[in-house]
Amino acid sequence: MSLYAGFDLGGTHLKYGIVNEIGKILFKEKAISPPSIEDLLLLIKKLWEDIKKKSEEDVKAVGFGFPGIFSLIEHKTLQSPNYPSLDNFDLFPALSRSIEVPFWVDNDANMAAYGEFKAGAGQGVQSMVLLTIGTGVGSGIILEGKLWQGKCGFAGELGHIIVNPDGEKCLCEGQGCLETEVSAPKIVKNYNVQKNSKMDISAEEVFSRAKKGDKDAQKAFAQSGYYLGIGLASTINFLNPEKILLGGGVISAWDYFLPPALEEVQKRAYKASFECCTIEKAILGNDAGLTGCALWAKEQLAEAEK
Ligand SMILES: [Zn+2]
Repeated sequence: MSLYAGFDLGGTHLKYGIVNEIGKILFKEKAISPPSIEDLLLLIKKLWEDIKKKSEEDVKAVGFGFPGIFSLIEHKTLQSPNYPSLDNFDLFPALSRSIEVPFWVDNDANMAAYGEFKAGAGQGVQSMVLLTIGTGVGSGIILEGKLWQGKCGFAGELGHIIVNPDGEKCLCEGQGCLETEVSAPKIVKNYNVQKNSKMDISAEEVFSRAKKGDKDAQKAFAQSGYYLGIGLASTINFLNPEKILLGGGVISAWDYFLPPALEEVQKRAYKASFECCTIEKAILGNDAGLTGCALWAKEQLAEAEK
């Protein structure tokens, strides 16, 4: 069976591994993401050498998922709020000095959606959306069995649809984006507003308090759930997808987050479109990105060889 490698770059970790052609991970590991692009390239070179030593067969192609707006025209990440040293960096010549097999680069959230579509909870559907809710909100869209990239590669940024015109300022320079209203920092902020405090705690801690019966913690999730519902209703009305998959750390609090979201979706989406769509948890977790990267490289290689 042919093998493919995936590298999924996040703000804190670079997750990487070897995946077979049906999406089974044969090896995976993670390394700390170095902040500078030069160190990142050195790390990728070293890890790629390790991968080749580990795999019993040749790895045929490599996929990279990088955070930020990746241009299919310029072959560069134009803007990466979470990894600024990628901005406008000429990636392809630099990567081709280390990677001697065919490789492809795309946005990390697109790759995670592709991973869930090919090897996770989206298998067998023709249209789906993955929303990953953590420190930010990533998303990718599959339409008619294909990743929807848009003309220049920037499609699927549902984290930056406006759900609250008077909401928080966003790193994208917008205001009240889905990302600013539902991600982990906002849940902590909601909780602090409820408590009239300035606690420096994590969203995990707010979740743990919610489970212990802290009504303010439960409300912090419900407030974000309301905006998630608005975002989901727009997504459903706009795309009529077969499935919406929700992933990311914040989704651990499903019981506090989802009921208010679904209540809002039911109010705002076309009933027929809502009933046509299944909303469920993504299943690949942190492996979605590297799996998607590897399987994307597999598909692109097959296209290139046609
Ligand atoms: Zn935004």
